[in-house]
Amino acid sequence: MAGRESILQYLLAHVGEVVTKDELRAASGNQSEWARRLRELRDEYGYQIASDKDDATLKPGQYILHSAIPGPVAIRGISRETRARVLERDGYTCQTCGAEAGQDHPETLGKKTQLQIGHVIDKSKGGSDEPSNLRTQCSLCNQGLQNLTPMRPNLTHILVTVRKATRDDQRAVLDWLKKKFGE
Ligand SMILES: [Zn+2]
Repeated sequence: MAGRESILQYLLAHVGEVVTKDELRAASGNQSEWARRLRELRDEYGYQIASDKDDATLKPGQYILHSAIPGPVAIRGISRETRARVLERDGYTCQTCGAEAGQDHPETLGKKTQLQIGHVIDKSKGGSDEPSNLRTQCSLCNQGLQNLTPMRPNLTHILVTVRKATRDDQRAVLDWLKKKFGE
C-alpha cells in the first residue's frame, strides 16, 4: 500500500516530534484513507504512534511516533499466546523467504528482519485465526514486496546446495543447525 509506506517514511523522519493530521494526509498523497493507514501501522505493524487518546499533551489531530523500532505486533483477533506459538512453531523464520528474526535481511542489506504473523488464507476470503491458518513472514514478504514462491525447497535440492557451498558456508550452516537444535 503506497500511502501507508509514505506515511511511515514521514513518521520515521520525525520520530519523537509532534506531527499533524494535515501533514500525514499530505504525506499519504492526500488519500482519504490516511487515518486507516495510520491505524494499520500502529495495530498491524506495531509502530508506537500516540494520539490525543494516549497522550494528554497532544491535541486531537496530533500524533507522535515514539520510536523507529516497532513494538510487538498485536494483530486484531490473534492473541499474544497464539502469536508466540506460531513464531515458535515456525522457528522465528519467515516461511516464505527463510529470513530469520533479528538477522540482517538477505534482500535489504543492513536492515534487520522484522517478523510478522500473517494469514495463509486471507480473512476476507474466509480464513480463520487458528494457528493452522497463520504463518510467520518477514515484513517484506508479508507486504508482497518479494517475488518469491512460498514453496519449501526439497531435501535433495538443499543437500546439493550445501555440498556445493564453500567450507566456510557449510560451517555457518552447521553452526546455525547446532544453534537451532541446541546441540
Ligand atoms: Zn520473507
